[in-house]
Amino acid sequence: MIWNPDFETLSRPAMTRLQGERLGRLVDVLYRRVPFYHAKMRDRGVTPQDVQGVCDIRKLPFTTKDEMRDVYPYGLLAVGLPDIVEIHTSSGTTGKPVVDAYTRADIEVWAEVMARTLAAGGTTRHDIVQNAYGYGLFTGGLGVHYGARKIGATVIPISGGNTKRQLAILRDFKSTVLTCTPSYSLYLAEAAREEGLDLGTVGLKAGFFGAEPWSQSMREEIQDTLHALAIDIYGLTEIIGPGVAAECEHQDGLHISEDHFYPEIIDPGTGDVLPDGEKGELVITTLTKEGTPLLRYRTRDITYLDRSPCACGRTTARMHRVMGRTDDMLIIRGVNVFPSQIEEIILRVDGVEPHYQLVVERRDQLDELEVQVEMTEKMFSDEIRGLEKMEHTMEANLYASLNIHTRVKLVEPKSIARSEGKAKRIIDKRLL
Ligand SMILES: [Zn+2]
Repeated sequence: MIWNPDFETLSRPAMTRLQGERLGRLVDVLYRRVPFYHAKMRDRGVTPQDVQGVCDIRKLPFTTKDEMRDVYPYGLLAVGLPDIVEIHTSSGTTGKPVVDAYTRADIEVWAEVMARTLAAGGTTRHDIVQNAYGYGLFTGGLGVHYGARKIGATVIPISGGNTKRQLAILRDFKSTVLTCTPSYSLYLAEAAREEGLDLGTVGLKAGFFGAEPWSQSMREEIQDTLHALAIDIYGLTEIIGPGVAAECEHQDGLHISEDHFYPEIIDPGTGDVLPDGEKGELVITTLTKEGTPLLRYRTRDITYLDRSPCACGRTTARMHRVMGRTDDMLIIRGVNVFPSQIEEIILRVDGVEPHYQLVVERRDQLDELEVQVEMTEKMFSDEIRGLEKMEHTMEANLYASLNIHTRVKLVEPKSIARSEGKAKRIIDKRLL
């Protein structure tokens, strides 16, 4: 179902015109009201008059996460504080948090783009949405909440964690939609099995999963386990939270709400804009945001864009599922590797669980990557010879696809730590 056909099926020329008008207004506001952007534009020698259409966006400066931290907490505000009605921040585990301040209109846009997201996976006012994203400063919980409410669905704001209670609610309230991280959905399914509850029978029809990269193999695993459509959603605190992009029922790339978020793909090394279809870093400009608007924000997420029409009828650009992040890209003996690429390859083999960990060490000046993958209970009881063969198969597959030598180690069921939020996939023991 298309929530807002007026914008989601706009013709390309009309979309480009709309984006150009909105960009012009945005640049004007930032130049006049935000000293941070005024200085950056002055340094590049651009003024609002230089931006006549969306093609002029390349003249404008990028914004990085570090710059956002430098002006913490209020340095990016483009309106007075009385006009801000809600504030969210990133977790700040790796430094000062980044701040997203919303005006009333920003919250309305958030509800709108999240309504589009949930509707794209089939959510209607008849659904019961079990929202297991965390409520609080994290944007996941309230983002889904606003969108589901706009649609008129019933929201159960259970928030993250508390697995036993999640299962009781799924069973008793007959939730039809589940929203959480993809790894948590599998953790839930596993915990359900232990309690003798088959999540495939509770009546879920769709799940909206995001906040961490996941692969096609993991999607298949989730869909088989939950007997529900597993929809990939994308967003980030800096931009608005969830709602930037989401898959439709065809699951062939994530439709970007381009009337609000202008996407570009750049070469992360040079900053050059890359053509559609080429893989690089996603950059987003918030075309309509009032509170803390951003010009050309470097997301560090690696993907590519596809502007060809989709079978669903939407005309908006699609981004491929996030393939990795410029900052959790592992460099193993000079080869760039993303955890998601490894996941895709190891999960193709039957008998393993989608729980894995990558351990990198440096021995004698050489990087060594050990891929630890959990076996299923059944596999675990097999004889050693079969396990060794399976490890060698995975090592060979990894070498064939990624051209790196790895050591694959099958580990006992449930020996890799579970997370109720984002899964920790990499343990880097190198002292660099
Ligand atoms: Zn589509």
